[in-house]
Amino acid sequence: MTKKFDVTSGTELRCKGWRQEALLRLLENVLAVGEDPENLVVYAALGKAARDWASHDGIVHALKTMEEDESLIVQSGKPVGIMKTHKNAPLCIMANCNIIGQWAKAENFYEWEKENLICWGGLTAGDWQYIGSQGVIQGTYEIFSRIAERNFNGDLHGRFILTAGLGGMGGAQPLAGTMANAAILAIEIDPVRIAKRMEIGFLQHQAESLDEALEMIQSAVAKKEAISVGLCANAAEVYPEILRRGIIPDIVTDQTSAHDLVYGYVPHTRTLDEARSLREDHKDILMHESRESIVEHVKAMVAFQKQGAVVFDNGNLIRTHAKEGGVEDAFDIPVFTEAFLRPLFCRAIGPYRWIALSNDPNDIAVIDEFLLERFPDNKIVTNWVKLAREHVPFEGLPARIAWLGHGERTELALAVNEMVKTGKLSGPIAFTRDHLDAGAMAHPNIMTENLKDGSDAIADWPLLNAMISCSSMADLVAIHSGGGGYAGYMTSAGITVVADGTDDAAQRIQHSITNDTSLGVMRYADAGYDDAQDEARSKKIGWIETQ
Ligand code: NAD
Repeated sequence: MTKKFDVTSGTELRCKGWRQEALLRLLENVLAVGEDPENLVVYAALGKAARDWASHDGIVHALKTMEEDESLIVQSGKPVGIMKTHKNAPLCIMANCNIIGQWAKAENFYEWEKENLICWGGLTAGDWQYIGSQGVIQGTYEIFSRIAERNFNGDLHGRFILTAGLGGMGGAQPLAGTMANAAILAIEIDPVRIAKRMEIGFLQHQAESLDEALEMIQSAVAKKEAISVGLCANAAEVYPEILRRGIIPDIVTDQTSAHDLVYGYVPHTRTLDEARSLREDHKDILMHESRESIVEHVKAMVAFQKQGAVVFDNGNLIRTHAKEGGVEDAFDIPVFTEAFLRPLFCRAIGPYRWIALSNDPNDIAVIDEFLLERFPDNKIVTNWVKLAREHVPFEGLPARIAWLGHGERTELALAVNEMVKTGKLSGPIAFTRDHLDAGAMAHPNIMTENLKDGSDAIADWPLLNAMISCSSMADLVAIHSGGGGYAGYMTSAGITVVADGTDDAAQRIQHSITNDTSLGVMRYADAGYDDAQDEARSKKIGWIETQ
């Protein structure tokens, strides 16, 4: 029998307070919008909401029965205890998938996961912050817009974007592409993923063959029409084939789950079913073939770049595996964070999210209006909110993401808390953000690549982020490290704060959201970035200048 995964609506509580209820609804939500909820998988091949179903049920029971002055401790997706703390302590703290350095390897992770000792929480899966593909859509849209500004006179009409991967995160690409007015072709090996993105309105068309796909794209390019086309095929075959035909897209990237050579990437030497059947007992074969396949995939990307395409890595370790497979120039391809987003992170402008816990879409509409009125000069936000209202369908609990920075995030959450108090909104709102945020992530091949001071691999920052978030009364605080193919590559921190309309919530917001972005600015100021130092000084965030 298949389980049903749904969100809860209304304001009736099943827990002893809104803070606990909020976390329960967020847990339900990540499964409702997740890729494979039967197996607790939310996104990125292995990113799970809980270690196993017993752990899930234990977490649900804990949230339903715990008092407001207690804290639930979660270790790699498993609830291990409830402790008496106080009402300003986090309701839930988590440490997910943190492995001692020398042991942090994919092979060990797979073994320990099989023994049920550990699970990977992804970034926002294990701490219940994922809001569906829309969570990454503004980031992808911002990247396309930055490329448009730098390379195409601010306009992607008549431009061809080639990408791959239509999973939990990658599924946002076709919609971000058409919102940026481009013609985007996305290669995806799994027909179910293509169908899902079409069903939720993120992808417009599916082509039956590469010939048909290219015809659709080329006709749209000629007419300067925005279009998104999905093709069920292997990217490691299609990219080189497009290159062989002498067609050079304007922009090339990839969002297959290339980070994980076993559970994520499907090598072109295997069908999807064959790859799946090898996952449990023949990991070594898959790791070898996936790496070989990624070599072909990335060689084509580098060749596109040499012939004038704007090529970038969208955060999936594809260059890392290609380099290990012998593609010496794989890192000629820049990573999206360094290439396009770092100036924003220097000012702690990053992917901030809010979720309407009562499941009322009107709450998001009210907050949209507030944003447009309050930040009329912030073009990143106003442009985005107008577009998102028109184009981005809700999945699961209604939610919005917008790239806001230091001060703005706190101001918005405080205003929303007041709207909850005065009944302008139909229920509490949860605030959270991606782990890929200024002070929250160390990931030398994605977030912190090529930092000015060389501190790429130093993971003190996310740990400090989590600790200050606990001291600052966030409702949930999590420290995550990489699992599967990301093992040994990253450490990050996540926070969630619930605006339930109380004065206590206002205090939690004031401290935790402000200190979260303060640390983000400090991280880049410390690394020597002028923009961050300027932000730190002008906003008086408490940075100590020792340089
Ligand atoms: P996912 O596992 O949900 O989806 C990956 C998709 O790639 C799957 O649908 C799979 O069928 C497809 N695929 C695998 N191999 C393929 C191949 N050779 N050819 C064509 N399709 C293939 O993962 P996701 O959540 O969409 O994330 C994708 C990647 O992006 C991951 O590596 C993830 O860690 C990374 N990521 C980046 C960001 C960011 O901010 N840029 C954010 C989240 C995730």
